[in-house]
This record gives sequence, C-alpha cells and structure tokens, in this order.
Amino acid sequence: MEDVVVVGSGPAGACAAWKLAQAGMTVTVLEKAALPRYKVCGGGLVSRTMQWVPINVHHAVEQTCYQARLHFFSSGLSFVTQRTTPLVSMTMRAEFDQALLSAAQAHGATVRDRCSVERVFCHEDSITVATTHGTMRARFVIAADGALSKVARSVQWEDGRRLVPALEYEVTVPSGLFHQFEGVARFDFDVIPAGYGWVFPKRNHLSIGVLSMTPNQQELRAAMGRYLAVLGCASPLSIERHGFVIPLGPRTGSFAKQRILLTGDAAGFADPVTGEGISSAVRSGLLAAQSLLDGQLQQEVVEGLYNRLVAQTILPELRAGRLLAYILYHCPRVRTWAFSQQGQRFCEMVADIMAGKKLYRNFFKPRWVGHVLTLPWLSRR
Ligand SMILES: Cc1cc2nc3c(=O)[nH]c(=O)nc-3n(C[C@H](O)[C@H](O)[C@H](O)COP(=O)(O)OP(=O)(O)OC[C@H]3O[C@@H](n4cnc5c(N)ncnc54)[C@H](O)[C@@H]3O)c2cc1C
Repeated sequence: MEDVVVVGSGPAGACAAWKLAQAGMTVTVLEKAALPRYKVCGGGLVSRTMQWVPINVHHAVEQTCYQARLHFFSSGLSFVTQRTTPLVSMTMRAEFDQALLSAAQAHGATVRDRCSVERVFCHEDSITVATTHGTMRARFVIAADGALSKVARSVQWEDGRRLVPALEYEVTVPSGLFHQFEGVARFDFDVIPAGYGWVFPKRNHLSIGVLSMTPNQQELRAAMGRYLAVLGCASPLSIERHGFVIPLGPRTGSFAKQRILLTGDAAGFADPVTGEGISSAVRSGLLAAQSLLDGQLQQEVVEGLYNRLVAQTILPELRAGRLLAYILYHCPRVRTWAFSQQGQRFCEMVADIMAGKKLYRNFFKPRWVGHVLTLPWLSRR
C-alpha cells in the first residue's frame, strides 16, 4: 500500500510527487508514455512559473525572453513590453518535465512509465488503481493526468471545462530568419477569430502555435498556414505538426473527493486569458501535496483542506480572468477601442500578472468591482 499514487508525470504530478517524497511519504508516479516524452505545448514558462517551481530547472531553459511583443493584425496596433528579469523562459517540455521528475525521484519517489491507468476503484480506507500492468493500492490518488483525465472519467467526476483546440508546430528555419525571432515572445491576435498565435524561440528552432478559445474550431489548420506565411516561415527546413486541447474553466463542483485530488489540466486550472497552464499545474500539484501532509492522510481533513486552498488561491483568479478573456476574444470592437486607449497599460498589467506581481482582480478599478465580479454566482452568469 502506497501513501499516494500520482497519475501523470507532467508538472502537476511531478511537483506533487517531489513535495510528498521530500516529506517522507511513499509515492509512486504512473505515466502512460515512455519517458522522457514529447508534450504538445509551447513550453513557455512565464516568470510566475519559475517562481513557483520549487526545483532548479534552469538547465532545461533553451532561451530566455526579456521582451514580449503583441500585434493586432486587424487594427494594426502593436505593443512591446520589456523587463530586466525574464518574461518568458522557453523550454521543451520533455526536458522541463524530466527535470521536475528527476528531483522527485532523487527524494525517493518511484516512477513507472509505459504504465497507463485504466480505472480507479474507491474504498472506505483506500483506493485501487488498475493499470495496464496490474493493480496498486494507495491511501490517496492525485489525478495529474491532464486534459483527458481518465481518473476523473473513471469516477464520473462532473466536468464543466471547455476543451479548446490548439496547434503546436516545431519549425526549423534558416539561421538568418531564426535570428529575427530570438529573445522575444511574440503574440499575434486576429490570426484566427477568438484566438491568437505565438512564436516561441527555442535553442535551434521556433515553436509556433495557434489556439482558438472556441471549441470545435474548424479553421485552425488553415489559420496556421496563413500565420506561417505572414511570419515568413511557410517554407521551413523542417516542420513537426502537433495538436491537442487546453481545458479552460475549472470543473464544476469540488476538486477532491473519494480520496482523489484533481490537479492541473485535469481540474481545468489553465489561465483563461492566455491558455497558459504550467504555473497552475505546478501550484495545484504543490497544494494537493500540502493538503495530504497537513491533513495527515485523514480523508475528510485532506479533501476539505485542498478544496479550501483551491477556492482561496486559484479559483478567484480564474473567475476574474474569464471576464477579461470574454472581452478580449468575443467583443472585438470593445477590445480594439480599449487597446487604442490603454493598450500599453494592459500589456504591462498582463506582464505583471504573468510575473506573479499582480492579480487579474487588480484589473478592475475601483478594486471592489474586481471582488464583486469574482463572486461565483455572478461570474457564472
Ligand atoms: C498547443 C499547446 C500549447 C501550450 N503552450 C503552453 C505554454 O507555452 N505555457 C504554458 O504554461 N502552458 C501551455 N499549454 C498548457 C500546458 O501544456 C498544460 O496546461 C500543462 O501541461 C498542464 O500540466 P499537467 O501536469 O496538468 O498535465 P500534462 O502536462 O498534460 O501531463 C499529464 C501527464 O499524464 C499522462 N497521462 C495521461 N493519461 C494517463 C493515464 N491514463 N495513465 C498514466 N498517465 C497518463 C500524460 O502522458 C502526461 O504525461 C499549452 C497547451 C497546448 C495544447
């Protein structure tokens, strides 16, 4: 019997396992892929991620961007924001996730890859995890198995997340062109309706992507083709095409029950404005581990603690962010007017939010408006 089985070895799972193993709990991470594995992701770590990650991951950073550029193709508006500290640290997820997982292993966590969890069975005092390689028993399970969480589906957890589609292409271009993109995190709006495109420079190639905030977006591939042409990358030296979904909007109901704690994408904690999900994955993984430690593996105490911590820290930001996302992606005229008036201020503000220095709630002035808007019943409307 393990104290905790963690399903999934992304940032949520690896950080949870690190904290639990460090505190002396027995913990096994189950990962369906062969490690290290490619993960469909821009691999951009905003500076709050770098602050919250409890492990030194600098060796996994391929390029550091102190500048971000924002373009609105329809209105011709563009903005540049610059900091003396990194705004976005660019990684490939295989290396970043492996760095986190290795730290967990160094503290005694067991990792089993190529081991897919198929179902979980909840009992009064424990939980059984059925995998492609037999069953395991644990006091608790941390579900860190990403957007399509089999653990959550296996116990028919309420959902309520919106799975929005995103494409990620790994593109190698001639060095002259590559240098034009170096050192800058680039974001382009109006590449696709209700979405944006990005260019993240890595060590020797560009990670170029588009996402749409509208589920069932059919136009994504065509939009990506147009975007590559606009960037001058339509005839690259090589290109790898990937696509996946980002779950936006937290699950309705609780985040811990029946000895299962939901974290990261499985819970729907990605940022509603940007789709950035690594920081919340790290944060929720650590909060889940903290709840297990503080609650001394007592079911009611642990579940109550985790639900409370999530409600205090992650949910208010998701609610306030959702309102901004609505204006940004679904009210183009209001957006253009607002950015023509206060665009630079908005960009600085979002950069500060991504740096963990400000909160989405601070967007609203007077401040009480922000607090009222984050009330659950109002933001749900
Ligand atoms: C195209 C795209 C670009 C993105 N770009 C960025 C970005 O630049 N910056 C950012 O912060 N976020 C980005 N995101 C979001 C980010 O990738 C996720 O929010 C983040 O990975 C969530 O971490 P996680 O630990 O919850 O889950 P994941 O990182 O998805 O990890 C889940 C793990 O669980 C494993 N797993 C799944 N099912 C099982 C099972 N049944 N049994 C065992 N293991 C299982 C998976 O193989 C995987 O390793 C992007 C997402 C997409 C789709």
